[in-house]
Amino acid sequence: MMTPEDIASVKQLLASPKKIAIIPHRNPDGDAMGSTLGLYHFLKQKGHEANVISPNEFPDFLAWLPGADTVTVFERQNDAATKILQEAELVFTLDFNTLGRIGEQMENVLKSLTVPFIMIDHHQAPDDYAAYTFSDTNYGSTCEMVYHFINALDEKEYLNKTVATCLYTGIVTDSGSFRYPLTTGTTHRVAAEFIDLGINNSEIHSLLFDNHSHARIQILARALQNLKVLPEYKTSYTSLSQDELNSFGHNKGDTEGIVNYGLSMKGIVFTAFFTENKEEGIIKISFRSKGDFDVNQFARDHFSGGGHINAAGGKSTESLEATIKKFIAILAHTKID
Ligand code: 5GP
Ligand code: MN
Repeated sequence: MMTPEDIASVKQLLASPKKIAIIPHRNPDGDAMGSTLGLYHFLKQKGHEANVISPNEFPDFLAWLPGADTVTVFERQNDAATKILQEAELVFTLDFNTLGRIGEQMENVLKSLTVPFIMIDHHQAPDDYAAYTFSDTNYGSTCEMVYHFINALDEKEYLNKTVATCLYTGIVTDSGSFRYPLTTGTTHRVAAEFIDLGINNSEIHSLLFDNHSHARIQILARALQNLKVLPEYKTSYTSLSQDELNSFGHNKGDTEGIVNYGLSMKGIVFTAFFTENKEEGIIKISFRSKGDFDVNQFARDHFSGGGHINAAGGKSTESLEATIKKFIAILAHTKID
């Protein structure tokens, strides 16, 4: 948690109504959208003029989140988003810890601001751009941290069903439905509290995981067909080219979660998923591991990325084929066990 002094200062900042911008990372996932919208509903109840500004579009499968229709998308609504940022008296950045994660243009706007920033995040190696930083890699999700933040402010009276619905979403998506090692007794107690507040947990799971388009299932099928296994490295990988994605008429978010299938095999402790994005001119890479193999370090060392020990991402500006070739070459001198 933040120091008691920082909590007191933040409490003071939030004591009078303010214009507040709340920012998730680029290509926001369930935790980024859940945490920003959960905080948004909390701050609205306290009388603030809060706005969530997403760097780019959020995936369709999160559009049901309460308040998703109020989100301003920087990439599409540039003028409106810039105005909100420039008028903000306080900025929250959630689920990322380095301004490079929001894209260059939005980063430049943020860097021109002089108001205080508050960071809440659970990734490795935070930058020090925020006046108040709540950064802890022991939490499985930023959503769980937002709960503890509200608790530390001693303002749980504003923790209602709507806030809880948003925060539960990120706890579920970032923990792989309560599976990953950072899932603690506290994680379950927080979830239990949300259920007691009346959230419809069963429906939330269904909205998140049983709500796919036919295209998404076809994309999954192709990714599974493309899956390669390298038993000597206890590694698997798969890929989707832009042409393959286009042939199914894909939507943003359709590739979410597919990386996990590569890790669901016996004897495999490391998997990678390469997605070609011609529009951005990059290969987006997702890494996942079981146990001690640190994919955050792997992504930082070789693919300009980062994240967590067991889940990280990166990118490459080479072709899909060249990127995969490079990946396999790196495996030959990487210790994986
Ligand atoms: P995903 O594979 O689901 O996109 O990302 C897995 C984790 O790694 C997430 O926590 C995400 O925030 C982080 N991550 C993904 N891509 C990048 C990247 O390019 N740089 C950094 N620093 N982290 C990333
Ligand atoms: Mn997260």
